[in-house]
Amino acid sequence: MSKIGILAVQGDFAEHCQAFRCLGVEPIEVRLPEHLEHVQGLVIPGGESTTIIKLMDLYGLTEAIKERARSGMSVWGTCAGMIVVSHRIMEDDLHPLDLIDLDVRRNAFGRQVDSFEADLAVPVLGQAPFHAVFIRAPAIERLGAGVELLTQLEDDTPVAACQDGVLVTAFHPELTGDTRFHGYFLKLAGIGQPVTGSDSSPEHSTSVL
Ligand code: GLN
Repeated sequence: MSKIGILAVQGDFAEHCQAFRCLGVEPIEVRLPEHLEHVQGLVIPGGESTTIIKLMDLYGLTEAIKERARSGMSVWGTCAGMIVVSHRIMEDDLHPLDLIDLDVRRNAFGRQVDSFEADLAVPVLGQAPFHAVFIRAPAIERLGAGVELLTQLEDDTPVAACQDGVLVTAFHPELTGDTRFHGYFLKLAGIGQPVTGSDSSPEHSTSVL
């Protein structure tokens, strides 16, 4: 039985599912609290954080995810997902899940046309730089004392971090075909070594973001 869940209420959950399949793991699509029952690691994908937060509330997932995270379920938020798991969203009335001690700013780099890509050094993934795709991305504005910084942009803006079992990336590893972050999250969730690595593609798709 798969122990990786992908929150599948909105956003690019299908691309995350494909990346885990490349590692030999068949994920569970999580749409209702009962889908979390066997999940050891939950991915909250990119998409639209306002919509994801509203739909999580509507389907009773907000408390269920918080409760499971408190009892040890790992969580990985990518882009909008990073906003959803944060402590605070600057200049916004939305209530995030507060699973990691960092504050974020939505659309910190501008609009869709200002999307960009960057090769980042991510020491926990090894020597090769990670090609990161930023689409209407948030930035981390405050990093709590207990949060480990995993990588930053050239101007020192932090864009990936980890605290206990909670991982965040402001960018979209599921769109590049490099599965090292997915493998890293499997290990964080205690699911062990990935079966295979891959730098070949899931199809790139940004239509839902
Ligand atoms: N700008 C979106 C938001 O605020 C995030 C975009 C994305 O996930 N690519 O939720």
